[in-house]
Amino acid sequence: MTIELNIVERWRDFPILNQQVNGHPLVYLDSAASSQKPRCVIDAVADYYREDNANIHRGVHQLSQRATDAYEGAREKVRGFVNAAVVKEIVFVRGATEAINLVAQSFVRPQLSAGDTVLVSQLEHHANIVPWQMVCEQTGATLQVIPMTQSGELDLSGIDELLTGSAKILAIGHVSNALGTVNPIKGLIAKAHDKGIPVLIDGAQAVPHMAVDVQDLDCDFYVFSGHKMFAPTGIGALYGKRSILEQMPPWQGGGDMILSVSFEHTQYNDLPYKFEAGTPNIAGTIGLGMAIDYMQEVGIDNIAAHEHNLLVAATERLEVMEGVNIIGTAAEKASVLSFMIEGVHPHDVGTIFDQQGVAIRTGHHCAQPVMQFYEIPATARASFAFYNKLSDVDALVASIEKVQEMFA
Ligand code: PMP
Repeated sequence: MTIELNIVERWRDFPILNQQVNGHPLVYLDSAASSQKPRCVIDAVADYYREDNANIHRGVHQLSQRATDAYEGAREKVRGFVNAAVVKEIVFVRGATEAINLVAQSFVRPQLSAGDTVLVSQLEHHANIVPWQMVCEQTGATLQVIPMTQSGELDLSGIDELLTGSAKILAIGHVSNALGTVNPIKGLIAKAHDKGIPVLIDGAQAVPHMAVDVQDLDCDFYVFSGHKMFAPTGIGALYGKRSILEQMPPWQGGGDMILSVSFEHTQYNDLPYKFEAGTPNIAGTIGLGMAIDYMQEVGIDNIAAHEHNLLVAATERLEVMEGVNIIGTAAEKASVLSFMIEGVHPHDVGTIFDQQGVAIRTGHHCAQPVMQFYEIPATARASFAFYNKLSDVDALVASIEKVQEMFA
């Protein structure tokens, strides 16, 4: 009860939620696409620009030193957030997409040749498919796919045949953005490691909702985006095991990733700077650090418990609505409820919802193979964050009823 009380008031920390859309109070059910930002994150970004703005690492002056301290302080916060062993294992990137491309090009590409495979699943976001297709095209390797079941879970019946010596990496999502399925990644990581196959986890949809411990998972890489976890856009993190990152060549060249440069020889910087070419998103990084502080103050277990309540409540309501089909009914789900309303295209659903002030996402959610599996073009997707209220579930149901009324 105390958990519930603490958390139900948290929406007040998000100034954007306090507005009317089309004459209705905004109900924001699109956090899987991008979360809203609490006041403290907005202030941290503004304060940096107002008080400390300067480039980092090379400046001897006060502002540069303050900016550097804040930037590196955020790295330590990210380390703690995912429980990495050392800060050297945290590389700042633009987001999950950039992190996956970095690993594909720097770690996997040099090891791949014709006959090798890269293993993903049918549940992946395009960001965890296309970089691997590109690296396969570049090397002659083949992309292999762990299939899915009707409920939206991984079909692991053939996993032993897929995890063979030719597989050079298993790249798999922690939580599906289209369906909300939580994958059994710990077991999969152990299985892949038994065969000597490294594992990248796409945690973009997991970190806003649950505690992540990369040492406990024993994954080789874990990637995520700040903007889905209450931080600004354009900042995210790549966790990589130190022993692996040390062996990887830089991905991009430029400033900050070097120790010395001459035309004869360039000596690369140490971890993690070797992978941070160019002036980074300093303000975004500081915002990410503040988002982590904020999430830890709210309590990640409180967040998970409240969102679970919201998802269960919404699922129970939609399950009994005639003409409404939930897409993705995995036993373990987080935050996401995809659905179809019979006889209505999801885009029309989204437009009518918007007229009611309810923001949901409609489309393929950058997961077209999931849509192909169900032989549908799109779904309507409601996704929750801890700032949602139980009354938002009422608004979801009322909007569905409105759609059905209009299409009756
Ligand atoms: N993976 C998953 C599971 C996602 O949901 C997303 C964003 N929708 C991404 C990767 C890509 O994240 P970004 O666009 O922030 O790089």
